[in-house]
Amino acid sequence: MSKQYTIYGNPVVHSKSPQMHNAGFKLLNIDASYSKTLLEDGSKIKEEFLSTNISGANITVPHKEAAFANADIVDEFASKIGAVNTFINENGKVKAYNTDAPGFYKAIEEFGEVKNVLLLGAGGTAKAIAVILRSKDIKVTILNRSQNSRDFFTNIGCRFYDHDSLRLFFSGGGVDFDYDLIVNSTSAGLKDDNYPAPLELLRPALRNASFAIDCIYGKITPFLQIAKDLNIRYKDGEDMLLYQGVLAFELFTSTKATPQLIKTMRDGLKS
Ligand code: NDP
Repeated sequence: MSKQYTIYGNPVVHSKSPQMHNAGFKLLNIDASYSKTLLEDGSKIKEEFLSTNISGANITVPHKEAAFANADIVDEFASKIGAVNTFINENGKVKAYNTDAPGFYKAIEEFGEVKNVLLLGAGGTAKAIAVILRSKDIKVTILNRSQNSRDFFTNIGCRFYDHDSLRLFFSGGGVDFDYDLIVNSTSAGLKDDNYPAPLELLRPALRNASFAIDCIYGKITPFLQIAKDLNIRYKDGEDMLLYQGVLAFELFTSTKATPQLIKTMRDGLKS
């Protein structure tokens, strides 16, 4: 019998995950199909998942925390993040994983060694990124417009500044911008032309950095435009999206991704 997979989100209409996973199933001759499911009430995600004979699912905005809270078994790493993006049906129980974090790490691997990261934003994506970077002993400084989730980040060993406190510190000469990688994990630039942090902080931080990555994909955001103008290596969020999908695909199919599978899934993403 054909296996069914889906992505839950609200909205979900723009998700590229079906193209990516269906291309992978086709390549490996796996009898399976992947669809999109609009889910309005995240607290119902477990019932919805178990009642519809779905073997595995991805979860996107805004349900990742609800998915975490409703899963039967949460992978140890995902439980540090408090959000999950992948469900597997294991004999009628929901086992949950977070592949966003290792997907991000895979995306920055080609930059080479990274030791000190400035992470813009403190939302769900920033939490996943901070947890994976700290697990690799990489220094992480959070810069967010508000104090939201400050304790989460300081508890895992990150420094935390809001815009005003870093501006004050910077103007007093108390900050060396010696970050090798700057990450935009805010939604600034997604549907607007905003910068994720004040320019007087962003420019010197990027000027001294070697690499920049934006989690937003498919466009040069104002943040990436500065990196481009400064001639530092940069990428958008496409690889992050691809690799979270590849890692979820490995969980769905109990296979190890080959370069050919990764290429096929990337082509699927772009189709
Ligand atoms: P959240 O809503 O959880 O967090 C948004 C963050 O952005 C918060 O820190 C918020 O600050 C900050 N923010 C929002 N607007 C602005 C602004 N105008 N200026 C400065 N900061 C702002 O979102 P997520 O963490 O889920 O997603 C963040 C981004 O990552 C999105 O653009 C999303 O599309 C992208 N993403 C990409 C993925 C990929 O695979 N490539 C995967 C997941 C997400 P505050 O805390 O003060 O509200």
